[in-house]
Amino acid sequence: MQILHISAECFPMAKAGGLADVVGALPKYQNELHCNASVIMPMHRTRFLENNHWDVVHKASFLFGQNSIDFTIIKETKNVLGFELYCVDVFGILDRTSIYGYEDDTDRFLIFQLAVIHWLNNNEYLPDIIHVHDYHAGLIPFMIKHCVEYRKLSMIKTVLTIHNAQYQGWMSLEKINLFPQFNKELLGLLEWGNCINPLAAAIKCADKVTTVSPTYMKELVHQANGLEDLMKQEAAKSLGILNGIDYNFWNPRTDKLIVQKYNSKTFIEGKKINKQKICSDFHFDESLPLFIFIGRLVGEKAADLLPASILKAYQQFGQQFNFLILGSGEASIESAISEIKQDHVGYYHSQIEYNETLSHQMYAGADFLLMPSRVEPCGLNQMYALRYGTIPIVRRTGGLYDTVIDFGDKNGFGICFNHASVEDIVYSIGRALDLYQSSDKVNSLRKKMIRINHSWERSAKDYIDLYNSI
Ligand code: ADP
Repeated sequence: MQILHISAECFPMAKAGGLADVVGALPKYQNELHCNASVIMPMHRTRFLENNHWDVVHKASFLFGQNSIDFTIIKETKNVLGFELYCVDVFGILDRTSIYGYEDDTDRFLIFQLAVIHWLNNNEYLPDIIHVHDYHAGLIPFMIKHCVEYRKLSMIKTVLTIHNAQYQGWMSLEKINLFPQFNKELLGLLEWGNCINPLAAAIKCADKVTTVSPTYMKELVHQANGLEDLMKQEAAKSLGILNGIDYNFWNPRTDKLIVQKYNSKTFIEGKKINKQKICSDFHFDESLPLFIFIGRLVGEKAADLLPASILKAYQQFGQQFNFLILGSGEASIESAISEIKQDHVGYYHSQIEYNETLSHQMYAGADFLLMPSRVEPCGLNQMYALRYGTIPIVRRTGGLYDTVIDFGDKNGFGICFNHASVEDIVYSIGRALDLYQSSDKVNSLRKKMIRINHSWERSAKDYIDLYNSI
């Protein structure tokens, strides 16, 4: 089976969050199951682009309103990722250093999608399945089914995976002039809430819709940033498939980014040495428990609650724990998180940046990982934490609900709470501090969680079963 994944991100070529991890791993695992899966994405100007070899496989142009857009498709020569990786280059539009955050993002992703289907339309071999990820590729199912020019592609089956329904790629209805020709009676397929909504269009037009965890699928019917009714309407073709994690890359036994490798037998010593490294880098007392938060500093992750929660916990429990935050995002949250640094030197620190190496060292060296998310479609951090023997403290939502059981419950190993509130977070930090008093208990939980299997193998197979069903 030939599968083409279309995405804005793919690790290690370009990563902003979990989408990249999924698109960088799923095709590799699908290929191990004898599929032929490949990925196409925009040609962001990243280190991976510069450090690898690329062949030009296609050059052409298409009309974008009155303008002709020239594009080039390049392919990474050696398949270093375990699948074919294609990138779309459009000079001045896609070849930029950041993935998102430009004023013309909606046009950029529209151009990306048009280039992809234009290329496919000129290809001799077509995929059996086009798998689009999030809104950045959300117009493709509509275009291949309904744009006159691309009729040749209309037999290809399409799957949409929603990694995050908060972002939908809204654009004004006038943008329709930039679309290839289609029967205007079908405009309703693109529209939601009086604008063109690429995510809604994909939900309507894809043959199947998946989300990245079963619980998130259930939640979307009640809370989907305006798409609740649509999710209800399309429930029959929708299902949740829990993400896996890349067991080759996220593996404390082989991880080159951590100072001491370890496994399910050597984790006590291994984690201790990794903790020493973090504590010495940030001038923490290593005898105290180390809590971490890693992620985008946005309201979805409840990162805005971190400063008040941490301060309240220091007030309530004393300076009896270290807290290290790694992330970047909204300016107001970044500054609130940085501001409290000066008064809490020696046990609190924040690194406002994206740092892959430090993230691995933190998963390996920490005692507890906090994820108080308001919305968490799947969440990968908690699964990385489990793999590295770091106890997750999570709010019961989305994929966090599906992957973490409270240690007070049968077969439990983590700490769970119900509300994204300062009170619940502080209470949970208190529970963690109590738990930390018993190293036997902590180590038995760690042993249990390191052995949990969240590899992609099962989920990759679920996706293939889904493809077969259409
Ligand atoms: P989301 O995709 O919503 O941001 P996920 O939990 O699905 O959240 O995935 C987040 C991924 O991004 C994880 O691999 C996490 O380690 C990584 N990550 C997030 N922020 C940073 C950061 N500042 N530095 C390094 N890695 C980060």
